[in-house]
Amino acid sequence: MTNVETIPASGPEPVQQNNAKWKDWKWQVGHSITDITTLEQTLGMNLSKSEREDMIKTCDIFPMSITPYYLSLINTDDPLHDPIFRQAVPSPGELIIENYDLHDPLSEDADSPCPLITHRYPDRVLFLISNTCAMYCRHCTRKRKVGQVLSAPLKEELDEAFSYIETHSEIRDVLLSGGDPLMLSDKELDTILRRLRKIPHVEIIRIGSRVPVVLPFRITDNLVSILKKYHPLWLNTHFNHPHEFTTESCEALAKLADAGIPLGNQSVLLAGVNDCPEIMRKLVHELVKNRVRPYYLFQCDLAEGLAHFRTPVGKGIEIIESLIGHTSGLAVPTYVIDAPGGGGKIPVMPYYLVSWSSNKVVLRNYEGMFTTYQEPDNYQGITCDLNCEKCRLQHIEDQETMVKRAQGIEALLSDYENSITILPAVLNRIARRQDGE
Ligand SMILES: *Cc1c(COP(=O)(O)O)cnc(C)c1O
Repeated sequence: MTNVETIPASGPEPVQQNNAKWKDWKWQVGHSITDITTLEQTLGMNLSKSEREDMIKTCDIFPMSITPYYLSLINTDDPLHDPIFRQAVPSPGELIIENYDLHDPLSEDADSPCPLITHRYPDRVLFLISNTCAMYCRHCTRKRKVGQVLSAPLKEELDEAFSYIETHSEIRDVLLSGGDPLMLSDKELDTILRRLRKIPHVEIIRIGSRVPVVLPFRITDNLVSILKKYHPLWLNTHFNHPHEFTTESCEALAKLADAGIPLGNQSVLLAGVNDCPEIMRKLVHELVKNRVRPYYLFQCDLAEGLAHFRTPVGKGIEIIESLIGHTSGLAVPTYVIDAPGGGGKIPVMPYYLVSWSSNKVVLRNYEGMFTTYQEPDNYQGITCDLNCEKCRLQHIEDQETMVKRAQGIEALLSDYENSITILPAVLNRIARRQDGE
């Protein structure tokens, strides 16, 4: 990989890797590349007139912003096929809207009880505390909002969001996202984290941030000393390609891990970036080496402007197939499709359970070997009537909580719920029945 040694000036001082301020994260942000002319000069590219016009048109709709650091990772010998380039530089493909593309693919707006909060799952919420990112990922699912607004949310919005979390005692996990939460100042973050930690029912705080990848210098000693005051605090980052591991990004991860912050990674499966089992294997190995647990691999969702990044689901299955068994379980992420319409993350897996009898299952392993598992003859299933004291497992749970919690398939499986079916909201057959009765 050739690194870009010299980046032409976008201000009075030259944007160079040997610049004294290269490692100053605010300097990096201030010198981000946001126009096509500077980009061309920096990468030594010669775009045709129509290519340039297409890119400028794309930037007008979906803005570009790339830190000099992240840009320096691009291989200038063949930029168009470079995984960093593809994640950072606008492609005219973004202007192609397929008829199945969705404006808000995950229905995050619909599941939002107040500004900044998405409450989709029973016990956790997404809290969007920042409106900006260090680098605008071309594959962003919240593309529609990028570059739209002020960097920090309004105080009234924050207050409303905090009061929502405070008054909903079922929320035990708050996931800070955005934008990138680590684009806030140390002071702003400290204030938000302190306020969250004061809420007794919030057990864990999670931060989702791409900063370790695109702006590793943001992980300063001071930032880390703030974060570690609020344990248990987890951080999920977003590496997509092995080229994103550099001395700088590995140092940032080490600082976070040394502060006792458990690290996870959420990748997106992207055509032309990482849709290859070999690249993925390398990626997960790099992650684990750096004390980051591969958490999710996302199928690219149906947001507008992402058509050129999407792969068939089969590509993801093929990748998972190439990981399970072949490498440590620790290195295998859960492959998920974030369902359109707010269905949330749905895991998809290759099939390992091949068949089943009344006392035996037939399985296949990663090598293609078929095997059997003999099930117990004398398993004494305990019928659960929600009376924890009767059961021998010595775990006492509050009945009301248990009834309220059981939903969907879990409720169907339970002994204490009477429901035997889950029906679609609209079903002609049922409508007919009621009419006739
Ligand atoms: C992904 C997501 C979460 C967190 O999901 P986990 O599976 O717990 O990581 C929470 N809320 C929303 C709206 C999400 O999209």
